[in-house]
Amino acid sequence: MFVDSHCHLDKLDYQELHNGIEDVVAKAKAANVTELLSVGVTLDSFPNMLEMIEPFDNIYASCGVHPLDVESDFALDRLHEYASHPRVVAIGETGLDYHYQPETADLQKLRFEQHVELAVNLNKPLIIHTRNARQDTLDILRNGGADKCGGVIHCFTEDLAFAQAAMELGFYISISGIVTFRQATELKDVVKALPIDRLLIETDSPYLAPVPHRGKQNQPAYVVEVAAYIAQLKEIALGELAEKTTRNFRELFLR
Ligand SMILES: [Zn+2]
Ligand SMILES: [Zn+2]
Repeated sequence: MFVDSHCHLDKLDYQELHNGIEDVVAKAKAANVTELLSVGVTLDSFPNMLEMIEPFDNIYASCGVHPLDVESDFALDRLHEYASHPRVVAIGETGLDYHYQPETADLQKLRFEQHVELAVNLNKPLIIHTRNARQDTLDILRNGGADKCGGVIHCFTEDLAFAQAAMELGFYISISGIVTFRQATELKDVVKALPIDRLLIETDSPYLAPVPHRGKQNQPAYVVEVAAYIAQLKEIALGELAEKTTRNFRELFLR
């Protein structure tokens, strides 16, 4: 069985594509994807997402403010309250994105530091989004003592040196459908080199549908395509990849 370690279940198309979240979960189950982590991106959207997923024992939540949403409503005590909910297994997504929003870098750094501090206090792992901000990301994780709570670099697109620095802090590396894209040659080499005991798989649904679904809206069932591609790259059996990434997920988030 497979785990989708990062999806945004509140952002899927429930008008045309899916008949409610039950339908998404059933499609995932039919593809042998049995556990999902639905990731929060703003405080305002969190209560609705939690309400959606709460009836399902096999769906977990995270709570945080995405670096590209740092100008959304924020209050530290509200983040703390939401993040303390028992179904919330991680803090994030948080991090830095200087590629799309260099102009909010200062606020991104402040929010990121606040998330790291909270994650360490609650002892819940961090879900990190980072783009074009390698050094600042590592500095904030190190200075905040993030090795105490650990976490994951999600939708990984950085180089091997960055992966190694993150793994030294006890972090896992999560690979999305980007790895299946023809032009992602550097990422394919990084994935080949990554140790399997640090690897997670994700869809980041509704974004980034893997080949052969590219261009369609992504959904958790498609994490199997990501897994199959990685298994082929690493020349291991798909069953082994499924088993190890599921075990890694549980070690990190369900400890
Ligand atoms: Zn992200
Ligand atoms: Zn995401």
